[in-house]
Amino acid sequence: MNKNQIIDILKTQDEAVIQELFKKAYQIKQQHVGSTVFFRGIIEFSNICTKDCFYCGIRKSNKKVYRFSMTAQDIIRASLWAYEQGYGSIVLQSGERSDEDFVEFIEDILLEIKKLTLNKLGITLSLGEQSFETFKRWFDAGAHRYLLRIETSDQNLYKKIHPKGSDHKNRLKCLKMLGEIGYQVGTGVMIGLPFQTYENLADDILFFKEWDIDMIGMGPYIVHKDTPLASLDNNTPETNFMLGLKMIALARIYLKDVNIAATTALQALDPLGREKGLQAGANIIMPNITPVEYRANYLLYEDKPCLDENAAMCRSCLENRISSIGETIGFCQWGDSPHFFKRKNAGKEKEKNPLS
Ligand code: SAH
Ligand code: SF4
Repeated sequence: MNKNQIIDILKTQDEAVIQELFKKAYQIKQQHVGSTVFFRGIIEFSNICTKDCFYCGIRKSNKKVYRFSMTAQDIIRASLWAYEQGYGSIVLQSGERSDEDFVEFIEDILLEIKKLTLNKLGITLSLGEQSFETFKRWFDAGAHRYLLRIETSDQNLYKKIHPKGSDHKNRLKCLKMLGEIGYQVGTGVMIGLPFQTYENLADDILFFKEWDIDMIGMGPYIVHKDTPLASLDNNTPETNFMLGLKMIALARIYLKDVNIAATTALQALDPLGREKGLQAGANIIMPNITPVEYRANYLLYEDKPCLDENAAMCRSCLENRISSIGETIGFCQWGDSPHFFKRKNAGKEKEKNPLS
């Protein structure tokens, strides 16, 4: 598949072509990663953020948000719950902070979770841009995957959706540092942003390949009314939903052996969004295991689903949904990206591989 073909598929409204795309992506998924879905229980533990991204509901300038941070004890309790349920791994996500108190807070939590679960619970972090030293401290404390979305591979578009002074190059630098340290590196984009073209999205897929990315977490952009981007001309949710599914399928066909998440943003736009994501080529689901009392304050976008369902309800609802499409859940396994091991073992010439 070349760039023009990717653009044609993103543009097409032809239902037969779209169904063929999903079918092909599903076949490739079965060949390369099987039909086992891995869970990453996500704990969205704080909405305190030092950044002001124009699309995000918890940006620091949104004064309507009540700011919270879970205690270390509560985060550890939620992690242990995931472990006891047989979820192979968790994701710790929050707004971006890089002060020493925060760095140490995370480090201590990682050490404690690793100790209490005898090193068996896999931990992914999604805590934004940090220094090499911080990434390294957290890696040494037990995190082994990091998710840092590039948001868009196009520098100009990146500028338009972030405040002055934001630095696309630093985002790239962070991805490189994560790879060097030894993390499994995850990235992704928002799909259907204002100003975004089909060509931008095709370039995003090429970017994932060029950067040898191990895991992809991308989803439709969804408007949050209290953000600067809300006043712009936005696509309909249906358009962004379909583009989101097509991007998953294209990424699966183009990259083959990476882990791809069916993100919650898909489910926000369609009650069956995550199942459709799995059927379009995704193999990872991130059940929300944040205690219910915090969820309403972690609204990156509007209409986030499952705000009032506790983690146990999420689990049984998900199990039913996954068996309804004939897939199984990989309990008690990390479900690492096969691509990561190939990248490590391939002996690729270093200069050709941005993440080495
Ligand atoms: N602060 C960290 C992690 C939390 S935000 C960071 O920014 O990396 C996690 C992701 O939520 C972001 O990378 C962004 O892609 C996504 N996001 C934020 N606002 C969104 C919106 N309005 N619609 C869809 N996704 C959004
Ligand atoms: Fe903060 Fe992340 Fe939202 Fe940007 S996307 S404002 S860094 S939480």
